[in-house]
Amino acid sequence: MARTCDFVVVGLGAMGCAALAQLAGRGRVVGLERAGSGHRGGSSHGESRILRLSNFESPSYGPLVRRAVEYWEAMERVPEEIFRKVGVLEAGPAGGTLMTGTRAAAEAGGFSSEAMSAREAGLRWPALSLPGDWEVRFQDGGGYLRADIALTRLREIAVATGRAEILEAGASEIREADGAVSVVTDDGDVISAGAVVVTTGPWIDGLIPALRGKLTRSRQVVGWFAAARPQTVAPGALPVFCFDHADGFLYGFPDLMGLGVKAAFHDLGETLARPEDAAPPLPSEVERIRVLLTRLLGQMTTEPNVARTCLYTSARDQEFIIDRDPARGCVVFASACAGHGFKFAPAIGEILADLACGARGGEGPFRLARPGLD
Ligand SMILES: Cc1cc2nc3c(=O)[nH]c(=O)nc-3n(C[C@H](O)[C@H](O)[C@H](O)COP(=O)(O)OP(=O)(O)OC[C@H]3O[C@@H](n4cnc5c(N)ncnc54)[C@H](O)[C@@H]3O)c2cc1C
Repeated sequence: MARTCDFVVVGLGAMGCAALAQLAGRGRVVGLERAGSGHRGGSSHGESRILRLSNFESPSYGPLVRRAVEYWEAMERVPEEIFRKVGVLEAGPAGGTLMTGTRAAAEAGGFSSEAMSAREAGLRWPALSLPGDWEVRFQDGGGYLRADIALTRLREIAVATGRAEILEAGASEIREADGAVSVVTDDGDVISAGAVVVTTGPWIDGLIPALRGKLTRSRQVVGWFAAARPQTVAPGALPVFCFDHADGFLYGFPDLMGLGVKAAFHDLGETLARPEDAAPPLPSEVERIRVLLTRLLGQMTTEPNVARTCLYTSARDQEFIIDRDPARGCVVFASACAGHGFKFAPAIGEILADLACGARGGEGPFRLARPGLD
């Protein structure tokens, strides 16, 4: 079957759904998702993602996060809130990557960041027992996103325009000739468009060869642990947390779903040649999370309630890559959204839509041609 539209978005994780919602406001768009909605194979599944306003990774993210928050707030509907501002607690050695970075980002972005001692933090949130010499800061404007609700809402926004169609289908090839571009699906259907947006997460270098050799896929283990004192980890009793410990960078959430505290190491896990190679979590990997969690947050029961894997896709310089395909001018893409991209999704969707419409070029810090990727 052949069809024609203005835009095709390939891959409907967080970035693709955000691009779909944007492009549906600008023309007729078809979204292709190979694995169906709500699948657990990529990077966007699950119920929660942290939203930090000051991002220790770079002080330059201030405008991007502000833009994203504007979108998240504009998308809110009662009672299914997306952005829940429970605050983000960050703690670690004063000279470490997390605390140095978050201090600089708060200052550059003008975000509030309350400093306190480890003892004061323990009095305010009784679960905590942080090393006395750590620096502790609280971002009261941060919190978490309900990732599952966010993806559903973005799809709904797109479909409600009457100009978006979502197909459960994979794209096997993108062809461009004489200024026209078309996507060939796994079933051999051809969709012709003015521009194609590729947001296939860990699979992206299959469709964008220019990214080959520039990305790392890593397998990240996440566990949900029941606390011996459940009242101390209930929402309201504990904010979202990030701890820069010598044994690993640990982050987590209060017990949002009755499954316990969700926690994981942010440090890059096992490198994978293919996304399909991600094996289920090993007991030793889950135990490593539990041991550190117990040390900083109080006793957790020995068996996790649930443990899963998720994939980070990272660039060599740990920065996003959002650009036009150098070989095909009608193809744009967003990649390497790593372990911190979700919160920015609506702002990245806007950049992708602008690129697809020719309203902006691929200049700026996220361009493909940059020294950190050579
Ligand atoms: C464990 C974990 C914790 C994280 N925590 C945070 C956090 O706290 N805060 C934060 O901001 N970010 C966080 N992130 C990062 C964030 O979730 C990712 O950056 C983001 O989800 C990446 O989305 P994506 O759309 O690029 O990729 P994906 O979600 O992987 O989406 C790609 C989609 O493309 C589809 N696809 C692939 N190939 C094809 C094809 N050929 N045709 C059609 N469809 C195709 C796939 O099925 C998939 O659905 C975390 C990530 C992980 C893994």
